[in-house]
Amino acid sequence: MLRQAKIAALGLLRSVGCFELVANSQWRRQRLLILCYHGTSLSDEHQWRPRLYMSPQQLDQRLESIERLRCSVLPLDDALQRLKARALPPRSVAITFDDGTYDFYKQAYPLLRKRGFPVTVYQTTYYSDYQAPVFNLICSYMLWKKRNDRLAPVPELGLNEPLDLRTEASRHRIVRALIERSERDKLTGADKNNIAEQLAGALGIDYATLSASRILQLMNAQEVAEIARNGVDVQLHTHRHRTPEEEASFRREITDNRSRIQALTGKSASHFCYPSGIYREQFFGWLKSEHVNSATTCDAGLASHKNNPYLLPRFVDTSGRTQLEYESWLSGVGSMLAVRRVAPQQYVLPED
Ligand SMILES: [Zn+2]
Repeated sequence: MLRQAKIAALGLLRSVGCFELVANSQWRRQRLLILCYHGTSLSDEHQWRPRLYMSPQQLDQRLESIERLRCSVLPLDDALQRLKARALPPRSVAITFDDGTYDFYKQAYPLLRKRGFPVTVYQTTYYSDYQAPVFNLICSYMLWKKRNDRLAPVPELGLNEPLDLRTEASRHRIVRALIERSERDKLTGADKNNIAEQLAGALGIDYATLSASRILQLMNAQEVAEIARNGVDVQLHTHRHRTPEEEASFRREITDNRSRIQALTGKSASHFCYPSGIYREQFFGWLKSEHVNSATTCDAGLASHKNNPYLLPRFVDTSGRTQLEYESWLSGVGSMLAVRRVAPQQYVLPED
């Protein structure tokens, strides 16, 4: 009800010219909208995880709005320097994609390139070295594909109860059990890929074909190098998609990630995005020691020059947002009306 009332209010505000007024205001001019995306579906991923995936058609519609509303799309580094210097152009926007999945290369990047929009990819590197689907995601996706089924136990995977795939909660329990078992047995990436393959067998899914489609995989080294050559800005997201709470391990995540990125792109990365949007105050000093210039969160807002550079808010765009809500954020009205600013921290792509 609250959401419907908000959407009705947004519609009214737009119809009386409020979006345009705010979009052209000094207030908006001093702020930067950093857009955050995750995946762009190769197939039906947006139906499985609407908060993580968007169809390419919907993404293209979003990019069309940026053009139609005459937003200034800036490369992230340039945008942050101008933000600091209070020299942003009107309606400024920076576009970021988290994780660096293969679907960015295949689906999102051609759409961005068509419009000439600069983009930053926060690349996590472990799975781009090790090419296989991300374990927990592929298990979850395969169970969802069989969401009308109830199957016999699979004792060789430690699943001793019948598999009821008809609810989100019971599918989640199965994924948790598989993850816990792999953690307990300290399984390698290859071992976990074998488990995913066995699960596929039990579900009647052709795992070889699924893997070959590159669904839920990261870009490989050649793909990262290629997009970087073509102007995509590749930045830090930790090597193993995690933020340890102990300084040496945290800093190793940055240095490992940075050296992999440097090897692939020939450039030194200095902008960071917190994996899963999770941050702690002690991270700020560690990032500074690693000469990281900025860090983005999944907390909602427009960035202003007053922001701590290690706590830059973004607008996390998902399939569930209407075009009206999205355009309210481009104008700035959405930020003024945002109710919940701190992210629920649910964009989890667990580490190896
Ligand atoms: Zn991530």
